[in-house]
Amino acid sequence: MNCPFCRHGDSRVVDSRSTDDGTAIRRRRQCPECGRRFSTVETASLTVVKRSGASEPFSRSKIITGVRKACQGRPVSEDDLAHLAQRVEETIRSTGCAEIDAHEVGLTILAPLRELDEVAYLRFASVYQAFDNLEDFESAITLLRAEREPTGVEPPT
Ligand SMILES: [Zn+2]
Repeated sequence: MNCPFCRHGDSRVVDSRSTDDGTAIRRRRQCPECGRRFSTVETASLTVVKRSGASEPFSRSKIITGVRKACQGRPVSEDDLAHLAQRVEETIRSTGCAEIDAHEVGLTILAPLRELDEVAYLRFASVYQAFDNLEDFESAITLLRAEREPTGVEPPT
């Protein structure tokens, strides 16, 4: 980071603190050359790459818009959607990747959506996992049923 006053190519951090919402770090820096101080704000960028190759910043509101369509007529509140979008963002950020395919974002939505509403999940999965026939729906439903019922160990007799 060049000094904005004298363009010196180095600076010393004299103070760092998180912004109130915790998504960025503000650093107070001092130039060792001219001694003047300036601030920088650092945010971890998260970029979504679309199938067309275009990229855009990750946006929770886009997640919400996409999921809301799948939730039409279902008992899902705006709060639920906001919470889901937050979980999706946290999951993606925890991978440490700065860039993610739009398709991967769709897949990341599936697990929390399934907990929220199974019908909405099936609608959404049919798009993102490219279901193209009834058998795909059937196997997804079978999987949902199987995982919902207690499995495995028989009780001792
Ligand atoms: Zn300077």
